[in-house]
Amino acid sequence: MGLPSADPLGMIVRTRYAPSPTGLPHVGNMRAALFDWLLARNAGGTFILRIEDTDRERYVDGGVEAQMEALRWLGLDWDEGPDVGGPHAPYTQSERLALYLEAAERLVANGKAYHCFCTPERLGELRRQQQAAKQPPGYDRRCRALPPQELAERLEADEPNVIRFASPTEGETSFRDAIRGVVTVENRTIDDFVILKSDGYPTYHLASVVDDKAMAISHVFRGDEWIPSAPRHALIYTALGYEPSLFVHLPSILGADRKRLAKRHGSTTVLEYRDAGYLPEAMVNFLALLGWSLDDKTEIIDRETLVRSFSLDRVSATPGIFDADKLRWMNGEYIRALPEDELARRILPFLQRELPETAREPDLELVGRIVPLIQTRMELLADAYPLTAFFFTREILVTADDLLGKRFASEPEVALAALTAATERLGALPDWTHEGIQSALRGLGEELGLKPRDFFGLLRMAVTGSTVSPPLFESLEILGREVTLERIGDAGRTLRPAAG
Ligand code: GLU
Repeated sequence: MGLPSADPLGMIVRTRYAPSPTGLPHVGNMRAALFDWLLARNAGGTFILRIEDTDRERYVDGGVEAQMEALRWLGLDWDEGPDVGGPHAPYTQSERLALYLEAAERLVANGKAYHCFCTPERLGELRRQQQAAKQPPGYDRRCRALPPQELAERLEADEPNVIRFASPTEGETSFRDAIRGVVTVENRTIDDFVILKSDGYPTYHLASVVDDKAMAISHVFRGDEWIPSAPRHALIYTALGYEPSLFVHLPSILGADRKRLAKRHGSTTVLEYRDAGYLPEAMVNFLALLGWSLDDKTEIIDRETLVRSFSLDRVSATPGIFDADKLRWMNGEYIRALPEDELARRILPFLQRELPETAREPDLELVGRIVPLIQTRMELLADAYPLTAFFFTREILVTADDLLGKRFASEPEVALAALTAATERLGALPDWTHEGIQSALRGLGEELGLKPRDFFGLLRMAVTGSTVSPPLFESLEILGREVTLERIGDAGRTLRPAAG
């Protein structure tokens, strides 16, 4: 049987994302899903979601839903899957056990696999001996040649057993990897691995091969941590008489310290990025560049361009570095590129989440007016809250010290007089526009002999409760005359005791 063609042209592309619900969808998972999706969409093929839930001990409740949620967030729609069905349903491995059992029994019947009755205690003891003797770990094949009579009796007695693959002890096994070419390993390095566990569930090795074949998967994308398993899969393919799929082992993802990406590097699950205010567009762009490139220099690549340009020959074998600063920067770029009304729509839930109950309910109309003031100042959607909370909260809590700062610390009466004068001037303005507010306050500052920075700083603190805010005059226009005057009045009352 030959190896699959290295040239995917003319192939019917069918890719699958096959998560195990043993944890939350992390960055490596979603990068694999994205590459699967990109190739399928590029080639007009099919993208399949398959749930590999055969490890019952590590099953995490909610794991399947979290995977789907992450895919949906990133816009990676699947054509076949557990929820949408398809010609190869069911798409959840725990519902396909009969298929794996049939394959395992077929292998046993052909002498390619065998029942093993060794107990966990014996295997543990074997491992200890191997470690002590500095031998590589691996099953010693004790049950591979059990006398037929003994085998029949033990099966008849229902003695717990697993099915192991009878790996060849000599020669070599090769598989084709789209990025690395043909990879060959010596068979003596492959032990007799388990394909069916004693609980009737298959191991990943058997289930993935059976399903990749049954679902006519053309390209198997997965992280390069699976490379050591690939020869086993190649052996199963051959033993079952199948043409192997083309493997695409994706390069590892490393943290900035060049160690494998892990929790200590910060967030690793994709939904945490969503909740922190990253845009799915930015995440997709960023993940695509973890192992693929358009031309080694372009950083901002939108989804349509990714789909149009994606190709296996630009997937690299060198690790991708997860550069959190770059992701943040990229997110800022995508935020700036969003139409204002769309940005308002995305910001809204972040404000709703953060604002206290007593605050004014943020609505799209108001957020839409605020967006032009903050769009260039944001890197994350969550940045909107600290920048704009003062538009919504009922009261601004500032102390006399906050208001006076360094400039007015020894002259509180000057600050108070300035606030009082500002109240009068703003109260008398014919039109409440930012141009009108600006010219009135500039004129007043000059009359009072105050530097713009000091005078506007005082007003900013009074109205927004902060030394930094979106542009002041535009903010006042949106806030409205009534609230502005109320806040300046409150600030004056706060200063009065200090001003004597
Ligand atoms: N179920 C495996 C995992 O979640 C998938 C590996 C593969 O795609 O073959 O790691």
